[in-house]
Amino acid sequence: MYLVSACLLGLRTRFDGKKLIDSGPLIIPLNKIIPFCPEQLGGLSTPRFPAEIVNGCGEDVLEGRAHVINSKGENLTETFIRGARESLYLACLYKAEGIYLKDGSPSCGSCFIYDGTFSGRRQPGRGVTAALFRLEGIPVYNEADLFKQ
Ligand code: SF4
Repeated sequence: MYLVSACLLGLRTRFDGKKLIDSGPLIIPLNKIIPFCPEQLGGLSTPRFPAEIVNGCGEDVLEGRAHVINSKGENLTETFIRGARESLYLACLYKAEGIYLKDGSPSCGSCFIYDGTFSGRRQPGRGVTAALFRLEGIPVYNEADLFKQ
């Protein structure tokens, strides 16, 4: 089994409630996929205000050196960590072989995240859930690996 960011499968879990564009056929059969959204599992509603990691990346959040803040200035660090842990629980429950994640998200980013200024600037790094899975030794893949070319 594989966990897949729900928004990559067309579910409207994104912060703005919008559906992502269909990226084509999947490389994994649907019966081997568990859709999940760490931000919803952490307790956030949809739609919600956008959030970014301030002063670091997912690993820094897990180690208490950085925070997740939304565009209203609310500190959502604990909520994001809870969502990452719930996602890990799900992966362990199903003995998931790996996880496919939507890049850029403060939870799911695996190659890049935004820099915490809400100005659209990217920086290399992982989101909180991607960082936790990597630390736990579960293979983390990017959305580019999920769809047939
Ligand atoms: Fe949820 Fe991750 Fe998709 Fe954001 S990128 S909507 S946290 S599954």
